[in-house]
Amino acid sequence: MSISQLAKSIPASPTLALNDTARILKEKGEAVIHLGGGEPKSKAPIDAILSASAKLNSAEIKYTPTEGILPLRQAVVRYTEENYGHLTTPKNILISNGAKQSLSVLLQSIIDPQDEVIVLAPYWVSYPEMIKMAYGKPVIVTPEDGGQEPTMDDITQAVGSYTKAIIVNSPSNPSGAIYSKELIAELVKYCEKKDLYLIMDDIYHKLVFDGNEWTSPYQFAKANEVKSKLIVVNGVSKAYAMTGFRIGWTVANTKIIEAMNNIQAQTTSCASALLQVAAVGALNGIQSGVESLRTTLQNNRDIMINELRTIDGVRVEKPGGTFYCFPDFSAYEKSAAKLSKLLLEKVRVVTVPGNEFGMDGHLRLSYCGSINDIKDGVERIKWALDPKAPNEIFIGDRKMVRDWS
Ligand code: PMP
Repeated sequence: MSISQLAKSIPASPTLALNDTARILKEKGEAVIHLGGGEPKSKAPIDAILSASAKLNSAEIKYTPTEGILPLRQAVVRYTEENYGHLTTPKNILISNGAKQSLSVLLQSIIDPQDEVIVLAPYWVSYPEMIKMAYGKPVIVTPEDGGQEPTMDDITQAVGSYTKAIIVNSPSNPSGAIYSKELIAELVKYCEKKDLYLIMDDIYHKLVFDGNEWTSPYQFAKANEVKSKLIVVNGVSKAYAMTGFRIGWTVANTKIIEAMNNIQAQTTSCASALLQVAAVGALNGIQSGVESLRTTLQNNRDIMINELRTIDGVRVEKPGGTFYCFPDFSAYEKSAAKLSKLLLEKVRVVTVPGNEFGMDGHLRLSYCGSINDIKDGVERIKWALDPKAPNEIFIGDRKMVRDWS
């Protein structure tokens, strides 16, 4: 059967494929520890549930305008003012089925064939594929110094006459790094000067630790909103633990929003009427769940980092936010895919190989699960890697003997 060139060029999402493998193994009764996850395990906010329940009980669940219901766009206006210090209007907002759809509709709205989009490594796995699906070309910038934040020099060297946009994700999936205020300021100014789109994917911006400052880009923008090419994407998935609700949004100038609206209208129309109402509940309701998730994650991060630092040769930076860290295991194995496979096969720990994020030798480990899973998971990894560890270990009720080095 023939499938399109486009379909052929897009591999299966590695993170979603890992979830499937983990689920199948779990269903077989295997004692799998999932350190590959991308969602908090806490429950959705009560205000989201109450709003959605009331809406459901009305039995009036119809299409909404493509751009989203006004109360949700108004809630996003308020959110943007409160969190970003930026005044905007409902006309500058498009609600989509998750920030993932926001980003993909956005890229389809601004990219022409052959246009280049700068992606900063380590990057979220979906960016290069989304750019390719919009017929653009991802240009990957890897920090020269092997760190987790590129310098302005790294970035400007990659900009050429075909460059259309730069995507920034801070705090970053997979590293958890929060980009410095200086870098954000320089990026905003540089993109204005060069007339480039600057796309800020802020999906983790509320999940920051140790009083770290996440930087709103708007404070450095000079262009007025009508002309501005600064675009913010955000959503309720991570901070509100509402991944399955699939609500995200874009804040941009009205021209971009109108273009996105036209494209979204011909693909998925509006986001679910029911779940938009749930998102209004989450954004306008009691916010204590966000803070409690943030502190839980900070504690989990400390446990994971402390455990990882007991493994000789593993280098890991303390993440400033998110629920991921991105340790460097290259002292043990240069190929992250090989290492990730070994860990799943031998000790039943799910990790995501760093090559998927543009940095081999690293694994992305999540700490959004339970403390037990974090401790046991890292202990199993340590056992698998450390030749000095005892030769046997119990994985669930199965004895495992180390027969590799
Ligand atoms: N951006 C980043 C960096 C992400 O990690 C994710 C989710 N994994 C998203 C966007 C998409 O979030 P959602 O579609 O659930 O809103």
